[in-house]
Amino acid sequence: MPIRLLAPEVASQIAAGEVVERPASVVKELVENALDAGAKSVSVTIQEAGRRLIEVADDGSGIPAAELPLAVERHATSKLAAAADLFRIATLGFRGEALASIGSVSRMTITSRVAAAAAGARIRVEGGIATKVEAVGAPVGTVIRVEDLFYNVPARLKFLKQDMTERRAIDGLFTRYALAYPGARFRLTDGATPTLQTSGDGDRRAILAALYGVDVAKQMLEVLAEEEGLKLTGYISPAALTRSNRREMTFFINGRWVSDTPLTQALLQAYHTLLMVGRYPLTTLFLEIDPEEVDVNVHPAKAEVRFRSQERVFSFVQRATRRALLAYSPVPSLPPTQNLWGGTSSQPPATNSQGAGLDWMIGHDTSVEAGLPKDELAAPPMQTVEAPLTSRATLINLPLLRLIGQIGATYLIAEGPDGLYLIDQHAAHERVLFEKLMAQHEQKNIASQALLTPVVVTLPPGSASVISSQLPVLGKFGFEVEPFGPNAFQVRAMPVLFGGADPATALRALVEDFEEDEAPLQNEIEARIAGRVCKRLAVKAGQVLNPDEQRALLTDLENCDSPRTCPHGRPTMIHLSVDMLERQFGRRGAR
Ligand code: ADP
Ligand code: MG
Repeated sequence: MPIRLLAPEVASQIAAGEVVERPASVVKELVENALDAGAKSVSVTIQEAGRRLIEVADDGSGIPAAELPLAVERHATSKLAAAADLFRIATLGFRGEALASIGSVSRMTITSRVAAAAAGARIRVEGGIATKVEAVGAPVGTVIRVEDLFYNVPARLKFLKQDMTERRAIDGLFTRYALAYPGARFRLTDGATPTLQTSGDGDRRAILAALYGVDVAKQMLEVLAEEEGLKLTGYISPAALTRSNRREMTFFINGRWVSDTPLTQALLQAYHTLLMVGRYPLTTLFLEIDPEEVDVNVHPAKAEVRFRSQERVFSFVQRATRRALLAYSPVPSLPPTQNLWGGTSSQPPATNSQGAGLDWMIGHDTSVEAGLPKDELAAPPMQTVEAPLTSRATLINLPLLRLIGQIGATYLIAEGPDGLYLIDQHAAHERVLFEKLMAQHEQKNIASQALLTPVVVTLPPGSASVISSQLPVLGKFGFEVEPFGPNAFQVRAMPVLFGGADPATALRALVEDFEEDEAPLQNEIEARIAGRVCKRLAVKAGQVLNPDEQRALLTDLENCDSPRTCPHGRPTMIHLSVDMLERQFGRRGAR
């Protein structure tokens, strides 16, 4: 075929494909336009998951009648004048492509009125062809109706998922915007009753409950951090509250939802060693940064951004979230009214404001607890990190514990100022070793011991390629390992700490779950290797410890930075509070 220019309809459909992928993309562009227009109310109606109809009505500034034909042209925008403006974009839109794109793959009607005009105006675009503007009665603001999306692009239509899936995408998007703009009223309906509605009173907590449910919202930790030119706010889940995928990790950057950002990695690093492998947190974070520090013009649907000083932003996000997380690093604790032996106590449920199942206590230092509201029922459901940040150290660390003994050759039992602690000796020892090893590793100080006779280990290809790529890291941990033919390695030395373990088993255990992860970061790999080393070394459940060993373990644990979880994210201890014990024994009710 000879080269020729594409017909305008074809070219515009190709361009539209980049912006409008599915009904949710239309909702996104229209909601963003409404917010850019300063709307205080954004009301969305959809039918058949948006295939039949998407209508977005706002009370924003409106579009002057004379500008309507231009608004639906490609590359027509009121938000950008010169190329230099691209580097200080303060609006969500700037490409001037959305309305043109949507209009080329649907039947679109725009009705709008600016405050200065006596009447409104309307324009229709069908498959990219616009009608003349006509005058109509309308309130100030804009209503954009998008009907029969993709009616002229059957191929696109075929790629849409089931209604339920498309609908979920719309819901997810809409709720996130509602959360990002708590000062605006959002309303989503698919007919008569609204499926989501916010009040616009600025209360993010209530919206969070709509997004994740009350139980989850209650557990979410609030993040609030500020540093020269950077501000991070929002919510992150405690390490115990996770999902099996990253879908619930949401980032807004200067009010724009960015689905693909390296900041997700920063967050995961913040959770590092607190999460079990393959688990991801729920997060909704809002980063504010000088617009000149971000390039938002790198993705057609503006779903990606680039930072000018990526490392600084990355480290800021990581530190801010890690701090929030550690400040609330929880000890699982039984709720007061739940009977230890399985039944429910006869205490009135009113005393149990914290919900059923395992509950999560914040901190244990009484001085800190005294600073928190006494009345749990009246307390806001969200825990704010801001206040206790100053006393972080007391929150994170354990109180001094008095050892009582070992039970079942598996748990240590200890008393603290605030009740009883049951400590899993294996998990606790893992944590202790992990922190020691990482400290030695940081000082490049891990002792290695040569094997009398080098051992050849053959691994499955997946594991072998992981090991091959990680030889230098293994070296840092005291393993001297060399390639020895296809998928085979010769182990010449092992860490002293590893004392006499079988090299083949050790090597295999070290790489077991690496293959599943696409691209772990280098320090993640190192921590993971350390985690595995510790798992092998730690005392096992069922191992009798003498009182000195028990005491040493307890002291070591008290000195850990994150004593409450093992390196794989499982709790090291369960706390039975004085309060809970009193209730269990009916003392509380008797007083
Ligand atoms: P962009 O948002 O990138 O400027 P769009 O194609 O989404 O491009 O919109 C084109 C223009 O139409 C906008 O720049 C704005 O001036 C106007 N516009 C679109 N939607 C609205 C709205 N809801 N309220 C007021 N003006 C709007
Ligand atoms: Mg726009």
